[in-house]
Amino acid sequence: MPDFTEPAATLSARLAGIDERIADAARAAGREPGAITRIVVTKFHPAALVDDLYALGVRDVGENRQQEFSAKAAEVGALEGLRWHFIGQAQTNKARAIRAAASAVHSLDRARLADALDAAAQPDSPTLDVLLQVNMTDDPGRGGVEPSDLESLAAHAAALSSLRVRGIMAVAPLDVPPARAFERLASLSATVRAVVPDAHWISAGMTADFAEAIAAGATHLRIGSAITGPRPQHG
Ligand SMILES: *Cc1c(COP(=O)(O)O)cnc(C)c1O
Repeated sequence: MPDFTEPAATLSARLAGIDERIADAARAAGREPGAITRIVVTKFHPAALVDDLYALGVRDVGENRQQEFSAKAAEVGALEGLRWHFIGQAQTNKARAIRAAASAVHSLDRARLADALDAAAQPDSPTLDVLLQVNMTDDPGRGGVEPSDLESLAAHAAALSSLRVRGIMAVAPLDVPPARAFERLASLSATVRAVVPDAHWISAGMTADFAEAIAAGATHLRIGSAITGPRPQHG
């Protein structure tokens, strides 16, 4: 069997290989693979990669920096059914630009950002799916709402008519076994659902830990390098 993780493997082989591992992990957890959305994180890669992924059937892509996201989305242009997921820290003064191109924002972490995203709605804007990002580390600079403030943020966002609270998102901390972090995330998901009962999305799991995330109930995986190959050097 070819090793799809090696750099020389083709994009299509890496994508197929990861999808197979996703399906295996889902079945091992007694879950339906089709209930899991695999988002391909394309940050640092050129717009052409998004075109290539689209041609391979990918419809969900993720970006984490507003400027790169806006430029890339403009370059890719309208592709039927393509959904952009914004997964990075967002400044309130960039809310309009983010809203203009994103189908979903996974990194909603404060009431002011919720207000800014809501205020950025145009009369013809579709409802914006949002996930509340929770900070599971002790470092307040990592982005994400503190778990103790999650409930009030959920209530605040749920009251904004142009946003739809879909669920919760987190990046697993490095100093905790991922399985434990994702179990905790699943319980924090219940906190959100106590406020918004149908907010069942759990965005968790990256290249290094997506199998553990699936075992703990993740509905949306954000996978970059395992599919795209190493990111081009930056800075
Ligand atoms: C870059 C990034 C990912 C994907 O990381 P990989 O390890 O390349 O899979 C997922 N989530 C967020 C928030 C990211 O910034």
